[in-house]
Amino acid sequence: MDASPLPADLPLTELTRHRRLREQGSLRRADLEAILDAGFVCHLGVVVDGRPLVVPTVYGRDERWLYVHGSVASRSLAGGAPVCVTVTHVDGLVLARSVFEHGVNYRSAVVHGDARPVTDPEEKLEGLRRLTEHAAPGQWAYARRPNRKELAATTLLAVSLEHASVKIRTGAPDDGDGPDAALGLWAGVLPLTSVWGAPVTDPALPRDTPVPAHLARRGGTRQG
Ligand SMILES: Cc1cc2nc3c(=O)[nH]c(=O)nc-3n(C[C@H](O)[C@H](O)[C@H](O)COP(=O)(O)OP(=O)(O)OC[C@H]3O[C@@H](n4cnc5c(N)ncnc54)[C@H](O)[C@@H]3O)c2cc1C
Repeated sequence: MDASPLPADLPLTELTRHRRLREQGSLRRADLEAILDAGFVCHLGVVVDGRPLVVPTVYGRDERWLYVHGSVASRSLAGGAPVCVTVTHVDGLVLARSVFEHGVNYRSAVVHGDARPVTDPEEKLEGLRRLTEHAAPGQWAYARRPNRKELAATTLLAVSLEHASVKIRTGAPDDGDGPDAALGLWAGVLPLTSVWGAPVTDPALPRDTPVPAHLARRGGTRQG
């Protein structure tokens, strides 16, 4: 397994080269990493029995690999095949004068790779730790870790972060200086943010069970 660091610029290949809306593309690996770190749900696209299947799933990452996991029975996690993983953050609706110019402010990443089933027990546990910590920092140390039976029932796939593309759109509609500006219609951006709520305690717990600090402090913070 190659553990060498990946270059600061994303490589341009036939897979990753943007053909449309190129001005929204970024070749900075730092932008890719920021997009991956701002989310924890991706869409995993894979061909199963000759048909595309795209499933939402939780992910984690290190510098080189993106990890997804699930049941050994999952068809989308069979591994050993090409996959495409996307992560999307919607930052707002772009409301232009014309419907044609409407759009979305967003940050998105597309990762192209082969899904490598992780069989090394050490890497598997570390991948699962990263995945857990990515979604819920502090939970790996707090919750019970997977036992041998649970590990055997879990597939972990690693997708290289080498070949990836990024698109980012920010700012106002594009028709502010076009002929439609004369229409006098309102135009602008309707921002969208996701915010974590306060933790809701499981009613099965004794009432005085404290909410762990790492979860309590997340309430009210922004996601994405
Ligand atoms: C929330 C959201 C809503 C969108 N809505 C629309 C819409 O309604 N209509 C529309 O035309 N476009 C929309 N886009 C942009 C869309 O994702 C594509 O970038 C665009 O349509 C170009 O598609 P294409 O098939 O021509 O891609 P191509 O440019 O041919 O794709 C070539 C390569 O570029 C990369 N790439 C393409 N799109 C993205 C992306 N979004 N992020 C990162 N890498 C990418 C991939 O690696 C891909 O293999 C939206 C994007 C987001 C995030």
